Amino acid sequence: MFYIGCHLSVSDGYAAMGKTALSIGANTFQYFTRNPRGRGFKRPDAEDIAALTAFMQEHNFAPPLAHAPYTLNPASEVDRIRDYTREAMAEDISVLEEIPGALYNFHPGAHVGIGVQAGIANVAQTLNIVMKEDQRTTLLIETMAGKGTELGRNFEEVRGIIDGVDPALRSHVGVCLDTCHISDGGYDIAGETDAVLEEFDRIIGIDRLRAVHLNDSKNPVGAAKDRHEKIGEGFLGLAGITKIINHPMLRDLPFYLETPNELDGYAQEIALLRSQRTGE
Ligand code: FE
Ligand code: FE
Ligand code: ZN
Repeated sequence: MFYIGCHLSVSDGYAAMGKTALSIGANTFQYFTRNPRGRGFKRPDAEDIAALTAFMQEHNFAPPLAHAPYTLNPASEVDRIRDYTREAMAEDISVLEEIPGALYNFHPGAHVGIGVQAGIANVAQTLNIVMKEDQRTTLLIETMAGKGTELGRNFEEVRGIIDGVDPALRSHVGVCLDTCHISDGGYDIAGETDAVLEEFDRIIGIDRLRAVHLNDSKNPVGAAKDRHEKIGEGFLGLAGITKIINHPMLRDLPFYLETPNELDGYAQEIALLRSQRTGE
C-alpha cells in the first residue's frame, strides 16, 4: 500500500483533517500538535479524536504524524526553555496515546553554543524524561538540514541521540527522514539513493526509520539551507523522488509532503506521485 499525505491545518479539529486528507487523495497526513510558533495549550476534544480514529480505520489510513511545535528545543539547558519543552512534549504524548499507532515527530533542536555532544546528551535526557515504558506512541527524531547549530544534521548525530536513550525506552524512538533536509545536509538521496540508505542502515539501522518527509529542495546537495520546494521543481527532481518512493527500503513507509502548496497543489502532487508509483 502506498501511504501518502501532506501537512494539514488542525484548526477545524481532528476529524476534519481525516476528511480533508481523503478529499485530496491522501491516506495519511501530518499536523502540528499546537501553534508551531506560539505557546499555550488546550487539550483536544477526545470525541473528535475518536471520530478521526474511526474514520482512518474505515478508510485504511496509515497513522497520522503529529509534528511538535518549532518553539521546543530538546537540546537546551536554559531552564525556561527546557521546562517548556518537557511539559509540551509530555502533554502531546498524552494526547497521542488516544490515537493508535500515532507517530510524534520532533526536531532535535539547536545546541546554541554548548557543543554538539552536550546538545545530544540533553536531547536524550529530554526523551528519557518525557517518555514512559508503557506508552504506545513512537517518537521520531527528524533528520535536519544543519542550519546554524541545529542537531541531527547527519546520521551520526541521530544515532548519538538514540544511544543516549534509556534502553527500556528505546523501542519508542524512531527516525523521520526529511528528503530536503538530508539533501541539504550533504546526502545525495535523489542521486545516490542506494548508497545513502545503506549508510543510514549502517549508522542508525533501517528498522528505526518509520516515516519520510517527502520534499524537494530549492538548494543543491550540502547547502544546509532548509528551503523546501514543490515535488519535481527542485534539486532532487521528479526522477530522484520517483526512485525514493519506490525504493525497497522506503516504499512501505508513510510519506508526508511538506512542500510549499495549498490543498489543490497537494492534491496534484499526490496524484503525480501515485502515477509514479510502481507495483501497486
Ligand atoms: Fe520538521
Ligand atoms: Fe520535515
Ligand atoms: Zn524543513
